[in-house]
Parts: sequence; C-alpha cells; structure tokens
Amino acid sequence: MLLPKDVENLINRLQSAGYEAYAVGGCVRDTLLGKTPCDWDICTSALPWETLQIFKDMRVIETGLKHGTVTVIVRHIPYEITTFRIDGEYLDSRRPENVSFVRDIKEDLSRRDFTVNAMAYNPQKGIVDLFCGQQDLQKGLIRAVGDAEKRFAEDALRIMRALRFAGVYDFEIEKTTAKALNKNAPLLRNIAKERIFAEFKKLLDSCGGEKILLSFPEVIQEILPEFNKNIYPLAVNKTFSVNGLKLRFAVFFSLLYKENAYSAVRTLKCDNETADFVKNLSHSYDIPLSPCLPLLRKSIFEKGWEVVWSIAKIRKNEDITKLLFQIKEENLPCSLKELAITGQDLKALDITGVFAGQVLKKLMYALMDEQVPNNKQALLSLAKTFKQ
Ligand code: ATP
Ligand code: MG
Repeated sequence: MLLPKDVENLINRLQSAGYEAYAVGGCVRDTLLGKTPCDWDICTSALPWETLQIFKDMRVIETGLKHGTVTVIVRHIPYEITTFRIDGEYLDSRRPENVSFVRDIKEDLSRRDFTVNAMAYNPQKGIVDLFCGQQDLQKGLIRAVGDAEKRFAEDALRIMRALRFAGVYDFEIEKTTAKALNKNAPLLRNIAKERIFAEFKKLLDSCGGEKILLSFPEVIQEILPEFNKNIYPLAVNKTFSVNGLKLRFAVFFSLLYKENAYSAVRTLKCDNETADFVKNLSHSYDIPLSPCLPLLRKSIFEKGWEVVWSIAKIRKNEDITKLLFQIKEENLPCSLKELAITGQDLKALDITGVFAGQVLKKLMYALMDEQVPNNKQALLSLAKTFKQ
C-alpha cells in the first residue's frame, strides 16, 4: 500500500515523537479496492494536546478537539488526526456525546462500524486488520464489527451506512448483519432526517443500489412515509433504469407517492432543488408526449425544458429525444423570453395588463405552429388581429 507523501510525513512525525500512528478507515478500504480515497484520516495514540504540540508549527484547526480530532492543514488539504478512542454511553441510538481516549489501536478499531472500515495502515506495521476486513473486501461483504445487533442498536445510522456501502461498492450484506439491521430498523426513527437523507442519497446514486433497495424494503419503510408495497419493486426498477440523482429521486417518488410525491420527499429534509424537481416531474409524469415538433414545443412551453427532457429519458423514446436535440440545435423558441417581442412592445398597440399576457401566449402558440416567424414586425401584425 502506498501512502501520499504528506500523509506519510504526518505519520512519521507522530512516530518520531514516540507515538503510534496509522492511516485508518475509508482511505485504507478505498486504496485496497484500487480506488482513490477522497480523504486520508489518521489515528494515533497521542492525546489531542500532544498532537497539537507536535504540529504547533503548522496550521491546525481545533474544532474537533472534544472528540479527539486535530485537523492539520498541509498544502491547503485538511487531515484529521484523531486519538485512539472508544465511545461513551449510547443514548437513543444516537452517537454518544462523550468519548474516552485509549492508547491501544485495537480498541479504536473495535468501535468502528464494519470490518472493511476497521483497518489501519502504516509502513512499519503494514495493514492492521483485526476483523478480517481484507477477506470481506475480497468477498464483497459488509459485515458489522463485533455483535451486529448491539452495533446497530448503539447507533442506528449504521443501518443506513451498511446499505449505502453495499450499494456503492455493489457488495452484499452478510447474513447476520442483514438480520440485525432489519431487526433494528425501527430505531432509525431516532436519527436526524438530514443524516438519513445523506446516506439515502448516496444509495440512490449507487451502482448496486437497486439490489439493496429490493432486498431491504423494511428499512426503506422506516425512513419514508407509508407507501404501497405492491408498487415498490417496480418503482425501484424504474428508478434505476434512469441516470442522474435528481431524476432518480423524481422517478422514485412520483411512482411511489403519485400526487403526494412532493410532501413525501419533503419529509426526508432534502434540498430545495431536488424537492422542486420532484414536484414538477410528479405533476407531469403521465402527460402525453408525441414525436411531433409543434406539440413537443408546446409541452416544453407549458412544462419546462427539464421536465420534458426528463420524461423523454424515462420513457426512452428515441424519436422524441431526437426532436428535442433538434429544438436545442436549431434554438427553436419554446418560452416567452425567446419571443422576439415583449409586453413592452405590445403597449404601442394599446395592449396591456392581463390581455397582453394572453396575446403573448397566443403569439407563442402561433410561432410554435409555424404560422408566424419569430420577427418583431410579423408578430406585431399578428397581435393587431387579436384585438377585439
Ligand atoms: P466515505 O468518507 O467514503 O463516506 P468513510 O469510511 O471514510 O467513507 P466516514 O463517515 O468518513 O466514512 O468515517 C470514517 C471512519 O469512521 C469509517 O471508515 C469508520 O471506521 C468510522 N465510522 C464512521 N461513522 C461511524 C459510525 N456511525 N459508527 C462506527 N464507526 C464509524
Ligand atoms: Mg471519510
């Protein structure tokens, strides 16, 4: 295993001061999987104030100190250096507020959630793998560290993390772990919606998410408002037949909740952009779309480009997609702001207020029917004929 030079230097410094230090968790897992880790976490036997002392000549952030984390900035990249620790009492299946620092890495690795996340590495000791994480990586298994039931009861977010990791890596969830996770699913009610959403989002965006969603409907029932179980498998299939997270959300919620899609997605505390898109798409999910240029342009005018484009993708209609490309390439106007005249121009004809709005709309329809070119003079002449 190869460490980035900066990570190696941080570990070296801690070791030279007489402490143990390792790269740990996600970065070890991802490196072993041949993927580039997004961040490198370090764990150490040094206590937080000892770490601070060791890196006092460097830029450090102390916000995580209470939990044992000192963040050291090297060339603008933050590295979290966390003291070996065990978690305190778990209340309400949430993460504990207090932690205790320990000097043995074994204890630190035992408190981690899954075997594949519980490995550490440094060049001197090699890979420290007390729970057969490497074997599980090879087998493609997500397995809880220690007693699965206890681990999910301690922190129910781990249930969502298990599903997410299995989805992202296209792994299976080991049998005992799967059973324990289903059993503890009701505890997800104690977990903040935002944190559940963050995991659910990654699951929906993952390559193995379809299989996982189909295998663990009980968990999904816990985190979403009630839905019709009969349509769930179809909704999952259809969701994964499209690409792009926003579109997957919209398909999933439109099929599962019909006209209530927006309020359902809202309960997940998702971002406004996704929620608004779910709302728009769910309202238009069943609209007729035909491969006819004027009709298609009218649909875009009425529903918006994004909705029509998305529906064409959902229906996998190539004729419609081709026409949509043509509309884009030829810049064919499909919205009032592309019309060659504005309400201001109509004032000269004494057309104002609500009537002006109606006239603009009529002009737009005439334009999309190719009865008039997008030219100011032509549009104004036509507008005159609409008066009285
Ligand atoms: P990624 O960052 O790619 O999502 P990660 O494994 O780095 O994956 P983090 O949430 O960054 O995940 O956590 C870092 C490490 O901390 C994990 O690898 C795991 O060892 C441990 N960990 C994180 N959350 C929990 C938890 N809820 N329970 C137990 N251990 C956890
Ligand atoms: Mg991480």
